[in-house]
Amino acid sequence: MELLRPSSADEAAGALGNGNVALAGGTELVPLIREGLVRAENLVQLSEAVPRGVDGTRIGAGTTLAELEVDPQIPQALREACSLAASPQLRSMGTIGGNLLQATRCWYWRLGFDCWLHGGERCFAKDGAHREHAIFGNERCASAHPSDVAAALLALGATVRTTQRELPLADLYRLPAEDDRSTTTLGSDELILELDVPQPEASTYLKAMDRRKWAFPLVGVAAARANGEIRIALAGVAPIPWTLDGPAALDDATPLPGTAYKVEIARALVRRALAHVNDSPHSS
Ligand SMILES: Cc1cc2nc3c(=O)[nH]c(=O)nc-3n(C[C@H](O)[C@H](O)[C@H](O)COP(=O)(O)OP(=O)(O)OC[C@H]3O[C@@H](n4cnc5c(N)ncnc54)[C@H](O)[C@@H]3O)c2cc1C
Ligand code: SF4
Repeated sequence: MELLRPSSADEAAGALGNGNVALAGGTELVPLIREGLVRAENLVQLSEAVPRGVDGTRIGAGTTLAELEVDPQIPQALREACSLAASPQLRSMGTIGGNLLQATRCWYWRLGFDCWLHGGERCFAKDGAHREHAIFGNERCASAHPSDVAAALLALGATVRTTQRELPLADLYRLPAEDDRSTTTLGSDELILELDVPQPEASTYLKAMDRRKWAFPLVGVAAARANGEIRIALAGVAPIPWTLDGPAALDDATPLPGTAYKVEIARALVRRALAHVNDSPHSS
């Protein structure tokens, strides 16, 4: 395996595909390669190829979570989501681009079971241990998307610029289907370059987790108010980051026996998040 070091986005995108895989901070990709869950012929290092840093509402895909959590230009929901994710060491290596593309933490998937998401016939979590799993979109795969950051960005109405297109963040994700089991719409030779995150009037991110630090979201709730409208998005509740049309939409949840408790947590966090964004005169 070689480490390729392209100096531009075009060169990097040109090097992808045919088994060549993009490497940002490596906090997700390296363990997946080590466990044999991702096969890579060569690694394409992105550090000189994708933008890094914050410029007004624009965030380079190579910006680390540690940089974002302390930047006063960044809306509160995104700063909170970054600061509640992973550990300080991981946040100083992990980029926002890589965070959006992280794979499920479902242990059946991580342990290499031949489950439905890996192309098999069965979802082992549905019959087995599924306390951390989904309450929405879980008909075929009940995994729960682990990105705090994606939920915050969805609520904030972020858009994504790639080497090929510009799209609302919601369109970066898709529920896996019988004929295509991936959870993103990103092509194998496509790179995320930057995000555009409009400034809200008020926003927040609240997270329920097993420990107070360094734990994936059992349920994460982001809310943002912009132009008088409020958007809500959830982490840890569906195979992809989940937009919630309003608190009443939680009545449509389809929890598994072991995840019903998540609906009640989501109700409480949504109530608190809405109170925050409604009460904040202008806190972004
Ligand atoms: C122990 C642990 C705990 C964690 N806890 C949390 C948590 O609580 N909440 C949370 O939100 N996250 C959590 N994370 C995830 C962490 O934030 C991500 O691992 C990190 O942000 C990934 O960024 P990276 O730069 O290291 O990505 P990499 O590992 O380099 O890449 C990840 C994936 O993204 C692709 N990729 C990276 N950048 C681009 C790009 N610009 N364009 C196209 N493809 C790209 C890579 O090819 C790879 O498939 C945790 C991770 C670990 C290991
Ligand atoms: S929840 Fe998804 S990833 Fe986990 S076992 Fe079921 S199909 Fe596989």
